[in-house]
Amino acid sequence: MIATASKADLLDLLPEELAGFLRRLDQPAYRARQLFSWLHRGASFEDMTDLPKSLRVRLAELAQPGTLEPRLQETAPDGATRFVLRAPDGELIESVLILHARRTTVCVSSQIGCAFRCRFCATGQQGLVRDLTAGEIVEQVVRLQQAAHPTRVTNIVFMGMGEPLANYDAVLKAVRLLNHPDGINIGARHIAISTCGLPKGIRRLAAEGLQVALAISLHAATDDVRDQLVPVNRKHPLSEVIAAAGVYAQRTGRKVSFQYVVLPGLNDTPEQARRLVTLTRGLPCMVNVIPQNMLDGVTPTDDRAARNFAGILRARGLPVAVRRSRGAEVLGACGQLRADASRRTGPPGHDKAGRADARPAKAR
Ligand code: SAH
Repeated sequence: MIATASKADLLDLLPEELAGFLRRLDQPAYRARQLFSWLHRGASFEDMTDLPKSLRVRLAELAQPGTLEPRLQETAPDGATRFVLRAPDGELIESVLILHARRTTVCVSSQIGCAFRCRFCATGQQGLVRDLTAGEIVEQVVRLQQAAHPTRVTNIVFMGMGEPLANYDAVLKAVRLLNHPDGINIGARHIAISTCGLPKGIRRLAAEGLQVALAISLHAATDDVRDQLVPVNRKHPLSEVIAAAGVYAQRTGRKVSFQYVVLPGLNDTPEQARRLVTLTRGLPCMVNVIPQNMLDGVTPTDDRAARNFAGILRARGLPVAVRRSRGAEVLGACGQLRADASRRTGPPGHDKAGRADARPAKAR
């Protein structure tokens, strides 16, 4: 498919917008539903055999059924597959498909790069390049669902590149598109939005009347430690983040989950554990304690530190799980996604070709 900027990306359109588009082509209303369903199955216009040929030709002149081109696909021994998709402007988008025993999760990116510069996260080191459109977010799921076939994608997590609440409108539109019964049809309860802790965005999301799961990347229980790890904490301290989380839990009736990447000696002291218990008192929540994944020059932490820290929390009555994120061997685990220049200069590899080119040079 040749991506042309002037052609509308139909994956970016809600059903009513698609209906408007087709109305202008003098098409009956029921065509919108057919087209929406085809698009979200990843079909090309030629595939849409129950649409008149003349309409398919017209659509191809005016629009595109998605704009992303698959560049790389690499599977880790743990079964997580990292995908790199290329946008028409040359930017690379990373997504991860994770097969579990009873669920299949797609981890999507919401931005190219990220503005928040959390100390241990590769995406943050890249800085923000641009927001993704709703269509680009949806297309990640469409393409990974095609790759997973016949397995059905059951869960979506906004835990790839970027800060979803900093690209709020596109993320919310993508949620509504992915949620739609005529499309991918994933229930809001099976969609999780993860944030570095933007109180305004959390409160706005709480008011949407959606059952989306909220995850907050906490990583510390006191402002002095969190200021160092998650710089946005200097603007929005823990008290604001926790207050917003409380509103979210109250409005949606859902538990909030907290991610806590263990950085030994820094945020896993008994004092941090004690403060975390106090901080979350009365809040319906759980804590996912995560060993740190490898970054350039940083060795991954072993699971022991994470298990120890989780043990202290558990003993104090906090619901807690230790989670090792998958896909580390292909740099597809939490905090490792980064579409940097070293990847971009690689040959135009197709699926499974040019594996090494998928990795930042320093990590090879
Ligand atoms: N910006 C959002 C979405 C990204 S989610 C957020 O911050 O929540 C990616 C998750 O991976 C975040 O919880 C992030 O803090 C975590 N992470 C970043 N670097 C990591 C690393 N080196 N090891 C383990 N997890 C990491």
